[in-house]
Amino acid sequence: MPELPEVEVSRLGLLPHLVNEPVLDCVVRRADLRLPMPQDLAARLVGHRLSAIVRRGKYLLFHWPGANGWLMLHLGMSGSLRLVPPGTPAGKHDHVDLCFPATVLRLKDPRRFGLALWIEGEHPEQHPLLQSLGVEPLSATFTADELAALLARRKTPIKPLLMNARLIVGVGNIYAAESLFRAHISPLRLAADLRIEEIRKLAAAIQETLQEAIAAGGSSVRDYVHSDGGAGSFQLRCAVYDRAGLPCLQCGAPIRQVRQAGRSSFYCPHCQT
Ligand SMILES: [Zn+2]
Repeated sequence: MPELPEVEVSRLGLLPHLVNEPVLDCVVRRADLRLPMPQDLAARLVGHRLSAIVRRGKYLLFHWPGANGWLMLHLGMSGSLRLVPPGTPAGKHDHVDLCFPATVLRLKDPRRFGLALWIEGEHPEQHPLLQSLGVEPLSATFTADELAALLARRKTPIKPLLMNARLIVGVGNIYAAESLFRAHISPLRLAADLRIEEIRKLAAAIQETLQEAIAAGGSSVRDYVHSDGGAGSFQLRCAVYDRAGLPCLQCGAPIRQVRQAGRSSFYCPHCQT
């Protein structure tokens, strides 16, 4: 599943090729994604210049001021965005093309859990899918105090809480595991029991982990490809994620795997307490 770093890497990869470029055509081959796609996308967009691509959580928002609105994309479980030369034949799962003068933005989504929606007007943050999202971990508002306020009095294990998008967006399973390892906190600890100095380390670890993943080009998760077609490499550097039974890189103790809220958690029982 594309995670926040992969989505941000896509955004950064697309920006220099698409911003200020006019849409020449819009081809929708299948409109039945997780939610039905707007039928009139071509009529809205053709002739208008894309002004910006912003990200909120794992949503990408493409702004067309001339069309008075935003195209919101989510890559779901298996979606990817690629830039291909005009005239490139579409594959079976290439559902949407946005054609610009020099390139085509192509949405591929084999499992069709992604979505593409039109948001009219200037305030996409008011869309119901975005309104309920938690704090952006890479924003200036994500501080230790903010995290402490989110975790206060919550008598549930810290790891599933970190992955709750209503509290914090974009901390998926890999990044929750790696952040907790860096902060030396066991995923089994109750959130309410964390000390403020631990929360300070955790907030910093979440930001570092996400920023390193973005810098490394996103994780090479199953169906993800860069907009330029390359594969990411961050997953190779994981200290605990998917390393059950292997020696901890810091102390040599075997990494332990447990189930929490239906997901696998990986941690070092010696370094993380
Ligand atoms: Zn260890």
